[in-house]
Amino acid sequence: MKTITTHYIDGTFVESHGREIMDIVRPTDGTVIARVTLGDQEDTRRAIAAARRAFATFGRTTTEERISTLRRLHEAISARVDDLTAAMVEEYGGVVQFARPIVETAINALLAAEKGVQELPWTENWGKTTVTLEPVGVAGLITAWNANALFICLKLASAVGAGCTVVIKPSELSSLQTQVMLECLHAAKLPKGVCNVVIGRGDVVGAELVRNPDVDKISFTGSVTVGEQIMRDGAATMKRVTLELGGKSPTILLDDADLNQAIPAALIMAFLNSGQACAAGTRLLIPKSRLDDIKRRIRDTMRTFTVGDPANPKTAIGPMVSQKQYERVQSYIRKGIEEGAEVLAGGEGRPEGLDAGFFVKPTVFANVNNSMTIAQEEIFGPVLSVIAYDTEDEAIRIANDSKYGLHAAVLGSDVQRARRVASELRAGRVVINGMTDDPQAPWGGFKYSGVGREYGRYGIEAFLETRAILEC
Ligand code: NAD
Repeated sequence: MKTITTHYIDGTFVESHGREIMDIVRPTDGTVIARVTLGDQEDTRRAIAAARRAFATFGRTTTEERISTLRRLHEAISARVDDLTAAMVEEYGGVVQFARPIVETAINALLAAEKGVQELPWTENWGKTTVTLEPVGVAGLITAWNANALFICLKLASAVGAGCTVVIKPSELSSLQTQVMLECLHAAKLPKGVCNVVIGRGDVVGAELVRNPDVDKISFTGSVTVGEQIMRDGAATMKRVTLELGGKSPTILLDDADLNQAIPAALIMAFLNSGQACAAGTRLLIPKSRLDDIKRRIRDTMRTFTVGDPANPKTAIGPMVSQKQYERVQSYIRKGIEEGAEVLAGGEGRPEGLDAGFFVKPTVFANVNNSMTIAQEEIFGPVLSVIAYDTEDEAIRIANDSKYGLHAAVLGSDVQRARRVASELRAGRVVINGMTDDPQAPWGGFKYSGVGREYGRYGIEAFLETRAILEC
């Protein structure tokens, strides 16, 4: 059993002032694996004060100094890839085949920020006018549990690249990952106070960051409900906000798609991170003309998706993070059945032989209408809705008929056509013919999926103000 009692403030590990203790439960069997002492308002205020002090110096650093800081972070985190992966697997049941690439993506985000720093026009002159890019100040970084290390790195890379100092409030469900990350931050020997971390509840530590007038910006990854609250409460101190929120991402399978590739690609995107991914392609739009063939192929391919021990490299789907998340997924599966969708694979209850922990059956519903609850609401579990369309225009209309607009995919043999369809989609990122990533490309959502962008220069811009100096 691990015990975590410290935060990271002003360059040192400090004992928590807050006294509340929370258990970390292993999702594969429900065992308590760690006890964490949660921070309070006082811990948060100390961290904000340290960040404010450090900003006086770090906010004036040159781009070379910031690049050197990003490199030190990159080196320190790269040395702990195995430990971060192991913590993700143990703490929230992330399957190793997802967790490891996610940690690598996290590290690449630091390199992408370095490139972003080099690309940005920090000073521009014309006539008697000079325009400079300035760090916004102290930033509060609030992250979700489902890929905590990635979110910390993404936000930290952008903030440091911009010259901001930060207070990080990681998800309280990710304390083991956070602990490894803290050791990395310490090993990177950042100037004192540039990066502070307080482990604690959202409505205590997170709320203080949002309220506190000494915090200039909040960068948040999490649910729409909390995102709305941050925007509302942050308005009182005119906070700048970046919000990375939920999704109900469509995958459009065009009628010319090669099904041997398209069906596995669509299912991999649907069940990304055991379905606990904001970008999961949980609505699969298929041509009615190929309905029977596609249903048969989905049923066959689903047999190859193994559920079980997330540490086994062959496992495709691990447990849900918590009992609460298990129940949430079950309730949506029930709802899909009640609303008349056809269960093509999975269904209610636990997979055979997995009686302990929070495992659910990966479930595919066919005969789904886009207005059904399972097609409109983010479930955050391995539940896919298959929706049939008649024409390409109808597919685009259904894809865009969602309050969300984070991610989308198009699968088809004619790449020109796939690009044309992609350009019609109201989503922050659209991938063609499978899941892929580019750390320089912006990440973020249209509509309820959020406000602002992360990654590379786009991420850094979100931590900057512009200042114009005009001479007579
Ligand atoms: P959540 O909104 O419950 O929590 C996110 C973070 O906010 C946690 O650190 C939590 O402690 C904190 N928080 C809670 N209440 C707060 C408050 N009042 N003030 C300030 N902070 C508060 O979300 P979650 O369950 O951790 O994550 C799942 C959600 O995150 C899903 O909706 C998912 O789609 C979304 N998500 C989005 C992205 C993206 O990049 N767009 C990535 C991953 C997850």
